[in-house]
Parts: sequence; structure tokens; C-alpha cells
Amino acid sequence: MLIVMKHDATPDDVAEVVRVIEEMGFTAHAVASAQRTAIGITGNQTSVDSSRFAYLSGVAETIKVTKPYKLVTLDFHPAKTIVRVGDEPDAPTIGGEELAIIAGPCAVESEAQAFAVADAVKLAGARFYRAGAFKPRSSPYAFQGMGEDGLKILASVRERTNLKIVTEAMNENQVDLVERYGDMIQIGARNMQNFMLLRRAGRSHLPVLLKRGMSATFDELLSAAEYILAEGNEKVVLCERGIRTFTQHTRNTLDLAVVPAVQRVSHLPIIVDASHGTGKAYMVAPLAKAGVAVGADGLMIEVHDHPEQALSDGSQALTIKDFETTMREVRLIHEAVAPIAV
Ligand code: PEP
Ligand code: MN
Repeated sequence: MLIVMKHDATPDDVAEVVRVIEEMGFTAHAVASAQRTAIGITGNQTSVDSSRFAYLSGVAETIKVTKPYKLVTLDFHPAKTIVRVGDEPDAPTIGGEELAIIAGPCAVESEAQAFAVADAVKLAGARFYRAGAFKPRSSPYAFQGMGEDGLKILASVRERTNLKIVTEAMNENQVDLVERYGDMIQIGARNMQNFMLLRRAGRSHLPVLLKRGMSATFDELLSAAEYILAEGNEKVVLCERGIRTFTQHTRNTLDLAVVPAVQRVSHLPIIVDASHGTGKAYMVAPLAKAGVAVGADGLMIEVHDHPEQALSDGSQALTIKDFETTMREVRLIHEAVAPIAV
């Protein structure tokens, strides 16, 4: 349930509503906007008795929320969330005016490779560096990532370039490590419904990049994000990375329609991963451009200095030269589709 306060409700009125919610054994989430304060209720298994609030001072209306998620919705939080990655005032953001570019190799393979790609993507305008140290691979015999040594290399990439490090944690212990070396926790497609991992990320001080599961529905994606917000971490960015369909011409089917669908109901930023979404390098630029055109808040793109030698996902990695060209193109599209201030 959502309790909408009158525009002239006092802080005491809000505090009284919060007190009643807590007295009922639930959790209150007050969100103030320029027009009004709304107070969301979570923790209830069944519907909440609205009559308890009807006559409290300052209450305008109570709205029943029937969706399986609440905190991620615009009903609860009418202003769009802008996720700042880092504490410094000029830290890059996702969900604001700038187009967030998260680029780098699929995996950290060596210091030389990590530095070469980082220097190049920085020069081309990226402000985030992606690379996995823990890789979720279909085969147990495939390269699994460099582990903590890979994270140490990523920390030196950050030192060297000032790029923000986005890197995957596949379990709760790995979240501890990503917190030590990185700037943003990636939860991969295969773990989108690993609920213990989601809860642990929800207790982190770092922002979270939540990738859509391979066959996750819209409601499942938003419900997974809800797990993170429900633990108190509101710095969540969603990522469309393609879903599994019957087609054979791409690795996954990039569901670009999910971008406006999410933006219609949620305040969370959403970015598009054109690399995993297609699996083929020649499709990455066209789909990245399409992602920006439909209004995504950013892009994830895999880049490698020698894609043919990559230890994972080489077939979908852009060369440095192609990444530079793609960046110029997506920036033009972003300028063209950015909302016009009235
Ligand atoms: C990745 O980003 O390298 C990755 C493994 O992505 P996903 O979880 O979307 O497959
Ligand atoms: Mn990859």
C-alpha cells in the first residue's frame, strides 16, 4: 500500500503515519518529492487495512499496490533515480543526462591486456571499465577468470585511469572482494534470481548492476531488483542483455522493448548490453545505436585489444578501432534523442 500525504501535511503528520505502520509490524518508506510525501508499506504478506490511515491528519489517499514489487516503482518514487558511482562530486552517474558507457573485455586476462583496453576505452570517452575476475562459464573446463588476482589488476586499472570498475560477483563471498577492489557490483544473468546474492548486494554500500536473466520476464526482473532495494540499497541499475529465444542468428535476442516498458513503471535506470545481446561483433554497433535510440541510460560493450585471442567472448568483442567509431555514432544518437527542455 502507498499512503499519499496532502501537499500541506506536516512532518508530524508523516511521523504519525510512519508510527502507525510500524505499530502494525510493517516497514515504512517515506519518499518526499516537491509536490508531496508518499509513504510506502512493505513487509505485509496480505493486504493492509486502509481504514487505519483514512482519518489520520494530512493523509490525502491510500493506494493499493497489487504488483509483486513496490520500491522499484514510480508510484513509490516518482523521480527517476540517478545512480552515482563513487563519492566524489564529479563521479560518473547512470540515469542522469550523460550516456553511461561501460566498456572493457569480458574477462581480465593479464595486466597488459587490462591496461591496453582500459587506456583505449578511456580515450574514446568511457567512464566505466568492465571486466570479469569471476566468470560464470557454461563449461567447468572453460577459463573461469583470474579471481582475486584479477580484481587486484582492476584496482590498478582504476588507479591508472580513474575509470570506475564494474565487475561480477557470483556469490556472497565474492561481494566482499568486489567491495574491496571495485566500484559497482555486477550480478550476472545466471544469478538474477540468486536471492541470497541479491540480498547481500542489497546490504552493500556499492551500486549494483543487475543483468536480466536469460529467460526472465519483466516482472521477474523488477522483482529481483526489489530484493536489493528491500535491503536498503537503492543504487540499482538494470541491464537488458538479451533473452533466449528460438532464433539461431544471434546468441540472444536483445529485447529493446523492455527499455520503455521499464521506464513506464520504474524509476531505476536501465542500460543495454549489445555484446551479450547479440554475441556477434558485427551486430554490436547497430544494436548499441538502437539501444540509445530507444532511450537506454547507457551501454555495456565488450572491447578487446586482440579479440581473436580472447579467453572468453572474443566473437562479440569490438576491436579498439571499432569501439572508437561506435562511440562517435552513439553520442550523435544520444544528442538527437535527449529530451528537449521546455
Ligand atoms: C558478462 O558480462 O561478461 C556476462 C557474463 O554477462 P551475462 O551475465 O549477461 O551473461
Ligand atoms: Mn562476456
